[in-house]
Amino acid sequence: MSKKRALVIVAFLIAVVGIVYAGNEAGQGSLMKLIEGNKRFMYGEMTKKDIGESRRQDLTKGQNPFVTVLSCADSRVAPEIIFDQGLGDIFVVRVAGNVVEPTTLGSIEYGVEHLHTPLLVILGHESCGAVKAAMDAKGSPGGNIGAILKKIMPAVSTAKKASKDPGATLNIAVQENVKNTYKDVMKSKIVRELVHEGKLKVIGAEYYLGTGRFELIDLGSHDEKQKAHHLKKAA
Ligand SMILES: [Zn+2]
Repeated sequence: MSKKRALVIVAFLIAVVGIVYAGNEAGQGSLMKLIEGNKRFMYGEMTKKDIGESRRQDLTKGQNPFVTVLSCADSRVAPEIIFDQGLGDIFVVRVAGNVVEPTTLGSIEYGVEHLHTPLLVILGHESCGAVKAAMDAKGSPGGNIGAILKKIMPAVSTAKKASKDPGATLNIAVQENVKNTYKDVMKSKIVRELVHEGKLKVIGAEYYLGTGRFELIDLGSHDEKQKAHHLKKAA
């Protein structure tokens, strides 16, 4: 066999494996739905939702959401709206600063284990007030809001080392906070096992208030491990 012909065959096999891998990966279809819905939202082409009585009656029998989303409680970041979805489509867990503690992690586990959503999105957003408050906090903040800020502070420390510009620091802190939440979420045995079994994909993303766009965040080494595992399974 000529060297050129061998190279063509290798390239073809890589392409086939790539297509199979993309098609089989857990959560890929859900992610595509979110990307397409977000595009419709961005361009003002939102679809008409069936939220009439028949749909509500259907939903009394049960729910079958296609994704679990952990997002900030900020009123400008409503997942059903920014992803152009209807009733029963998204299992939403919301808390200021999109941080997790046992009750929110339990809610996420319910979404991914009992409702079998193949995708979990940890969604931070531009100009997050909770992250800004953690940046501005002096000493050790008290009270219930202080408990949220303390969860965000490690991300702020990392961001302050990375940049001296306050605007840039805030956005870096938003992204670092998503990464830290991801690490906290992966402490859940239920989530870890679903990921390892190839039944769940966990991604981080940031929503931009002005443009309406959401963008994926590279979750670093943990994400690489997840990808490597999926590749190993697909091979
Ligand atoms: Zn926020």
